[in-house]
Amino acid sequence: MEHPENDKEYRGLTVNSGVKMPPSINPYRRARRRPQLSVNDYVEGILKGDVSVLGRAVTLVESVAEAHQAVAQEVIEKCLPYSGNSRRIGITGVPGAGKSTSIDVFGLHVLREGHKLAVLAIDPSSERTHGSILGDKTRMEKLSQQRDAFIRPSPSAGSLGGVARKTRETIVLCEAAGYDRIFVETVGVGQSETAVHSMVDFFLLIQLAGTGDELQGIKRGIMEMADGIAINKCDGDNIDRAKLAAAQFRNALHLFPPTPSKWRPEVVTYSGYYELDIDKVWDMIDRYFEYVDRTGYFQRKRQEQEKYWMLATIDEALRHRFYNTPEVAALLEQKELRVLNNEQSSFTAARDVLDFYFSMNREKRD
Ligand code: GDP
Repeated sequence: MEHPENDKEYRGLTVNSGVKMPPSINPYRRARRRPQLSVNDYVEGILKGDVSVLGRAVTLVESVAEAHQAVAQEVIEKCLPYSGNSRRIGITGVPGAGKSTSIDVFGLHVLREGHKLAVLAIDPSSERTHGSILGDKTRMEKLSQQRDAFIRPSPSAGSLGGVARKTRETIVLCEAAGYDRIFVETVGVGQSETAVHSMVDFFLLIQLAGTGDELQGIKRGIMEMADGIAINKCDGDNIDRAKLAAAQFRNALHLFPPTPSKWRPEVVTYSGYYELDIDKVWDMIDRYFEYVDRTGYFQRKRQEQEKYWMLATIDEALRHRFYNTPEVAALLEQKELRVLNNEQSSFTAARDVLDFYFSMNREKRD
């Protein structure tokens, strides 16, 4: 077929006619399609600890497609009775604090104790960067080669609430698959800590020394959530500074109100890179779990988290429904203009939109 670009009016440009496509090298090769699994296939595979089925189930949980979600929810529901039997540990710290280096060695420590470990992550920024920075296998070289470690990067789509819910659902699946140690990693700079805190039993804050004002850069709220602070890079000529930072953190923690568990958060120093004093970090975590088992706080906190997640899920679903109603979106746009032009107050505008939404739903019901 003649290319229009070869017309005389486009001088300096000629397009060769294409070559015929060679036949497929293997004419018998068909596009490989993995067979669809039923809900029961998923559940059976997960309960058997089949990593590939678990991975596929997590992909389903992360999917935004409604059909996938329906299956995912059923799978989760059926896995629930087999979940819960684990220690869930949140790990946070600013970028560069040494989270991935540390998780790599913490993970090996946990595996040596005979456990199975899942490493998950919550990283809302991955929505923007299209690909998660956290929980990435390439960051945890040693751990990623271990058969008993399941590493999964952060789900990337959706709001923080949505991402967090998916991670929590993934925890359920991992536990049902026999993973009895769960790490949830997050960057210690924003909102995601609250989400992680609401799904873990122990919250570890990784800190650095020698950055000037030791307490700078980390939000007070994050420190208040921590059950333990581990000061990393306590090696070489950084040892004295790390110890000094530990003392400063201990002093600072004294000024904080008691934690709901009445556990006094501890501060330890270690080196993830040189694998020094890793035991000290884990002894602290073990002490915490013994303490909360003894006081019953472990169960209490888990129950509170269940309640929190029910309400958070309702909240998320309502928002989704509200903002995805086209009529509401149109009215919101109008109201926004009116508010910006000082024609209406934000409060009455909000009330109008809500009233409209509620009346829409009432009409649908009647
Ligand atoms: P993340 O961003 O929190 O995951 O931090 P990384 O684990 O990627 O570590 C950031 C940098 O700090 C890397 O260059 C590591 O090699 C280095 N690092 C991590 N842990 C240690 C440690 O214990 N001692 C020293 N000296 N460097 C470390």
